[in-house]
Amino acid sequence: MLSFFAALCITLQAQVEIADSLLTQRNEVHVRFELPAFLSPEQLTQIMSIARISNDTVDAFLNRTQWHNFCQLRIPCRIVLPPKKYHHTRSSISWTYPTESEYRQIMQQFQTQYPEICHLYDIGRSVKNRSLLFIRINPDSSIIKPSVMLTSSIHGNETGGMMLMLRLADYLLSQREINILVKKLTDSLDIWINPLANPDGFYYDTADIYQATRFNANGVDLNRNFPDPVKGSHPDNNDYQPETKAMMQLLKHYRFVMSANFHSGEEVVNYPWDSQLSLHPDDTWFKVLAKTYADSAIRFGTNGYFQTYIGNSQIAGITNGYAWYPVYGGRQDYVTCFRHGREVTIELDKDFITPEADLEQLWQSNYRSLLAWLSYTLQGVKGVVTDQMTGKPIASTVAIADHDDAKSVVISDSTTGIFYRLLLPGSYTFKIYATGYDTCTIGPIAVYSNQYTYLQANLVPKDKIKNEIVVPQIFPNPVGNRIFLRSMQTKNWRYALLDNGGRILQQNTWPQNSGLDVSTLLPGMYFLYLTEGKNTQRLRFIKLP
Ligand SMILES: [Zn+2]
Repeated sequence: MLSFFAALCITLQAQVEIADSLLTQRNEVHVRFELPAFLSPEQLTQIMSIARISNDTVDAFLNRTQWHNFCQLRIPCRIVLPPKKYHHTRSSISWTYPTESEYRQIMQQFQTQYPEICHLYDIGRSVKNRSLLFIRINPDSSIIKPSVMLTSSIHGNETGGMMLMLRLADYLLSQREINILVKKLTDSLDIWINPLANPDGFYYDTADIYQATRFNANGVDLNRNFPDPVKGSHPDNNDYQPETKAMMQLLKHYRFVMSANFHSGEEVVNYPWDSQLSLHPDDTWFKVLAKTYADSAIRFGTNGYFQTYIGNSQIAGITNGYAWYPVYGGRQDYVTCFRHGREVTIELDKDFITPEADLEQLWQSNYRSLLAWLSYTLQGVKGVVTDQMTGKPIASTVAIADHDDAKSVVISDSTTGIFYRLLLPGSYTFKIYATGYDTCTIGPIAVYSNQYTYLQANLVPKDKIKNEIVVPQIFPNPVGNRIFLRSMQTKNWRYALLDNGGRILQQNTWPQNSGLDVSTLLPGMYFLYLTEGKNTQRLRFIKLP
């Protein structure tokens, strides 16, 4: 596996080569960098042509001498390529399946051509030592954004999605400067695209795509090889395959708020669960997402495309997974259950291997659906969970009250405290749990279309409550007929009621709900001893005539 450090070195080297190439062609290079502490704008402007400083981000243009001097300063920067016009017919990707080396070149080319927007990741190797490549589109990686993942062809012989993913990456990168929606999506999201999850299957015969296999080189179906919510570990009785391990490792490091796994063999959006009859608490949310994708595919596809009714669905082109057929060890349920994500399985074509002649139509039928799918990630609640005392971020469990179960909750990030909860417009009450903290209830909070509502949760440490707030108080005091206890925490107190001379008048378990009837006591001063474990409190009250 190529380390991220090695990838960074390659990026820097590629950057130098790109700058050199640009300078040769155009005699200028456009760079963007954070304003360094050791140089003022006044000093900078004397050694380069500053075009803009926005929020301490500098855009500047340099000639060859300036570039050479700039490099000596060792300021981390990105090279901004000149915007280019994009036409489908002139795309660098043709409508033929790439050979193995062409595939790697295309993925590499994304990074080479758009180094300021994207990075190529090799997350691990297949059985036959082929790279598992992701292109990550994340223009300003210093900003925390919701991460989304799209992968295809985990079944090597389901080929159309691989081309769709390459096209999508190309579209997002090349349209970014000229398409408002693409600009918004790429600015707002951290997008990971893996066109080929099973390269050994796809390139089983490197000369003939029609020889592609569903399984990996060990003969294992990779989409049955993940831990399963119902069957547990190794649901297929196989070892976790190298491809599976690499994916699980990635999913451990990056918490994707939404993901999709592209297949072929049917034309339908399949949503959780695959492994059980019970519905996911976000079933309605999944249905709306699936229908949004399918409706667009029906509208822009060829006649009859996606107009399939399967799994008892009343809606064309969508199905609950289990209602179609149960799957154990699928990635969809693994991600949705164990990683608290929201994954769907999208079947693109009734043909397993989409003929090359149909690839362009496949793109035309689906790209608006893909953009709609990505847009769906930008609606819900974005929250930050912190310690009320220290302000430090907390890893917590975030649930919608009277809605979620243990599998559907989301988790706030331990480093940033941030969570994203994708929701339909409506009103929601949140409950936030973390070990060592009192449960925090916030809401109701309104969610609107196509935007995030922001939520800040400050959790109170439990020992804080114990030390400072736990001492109960009697009310009313003075009292007429009945006394109650006011406390931040409900305790199983035992009580003893004593008169002013120290005689015990009565003792029992404290009647938390009804309070204690003191109507028969004579007027005067009394003491109430409350005991729970080793904790004893002495309280005093006055009985009125
Ligand atoms: Zn499949």
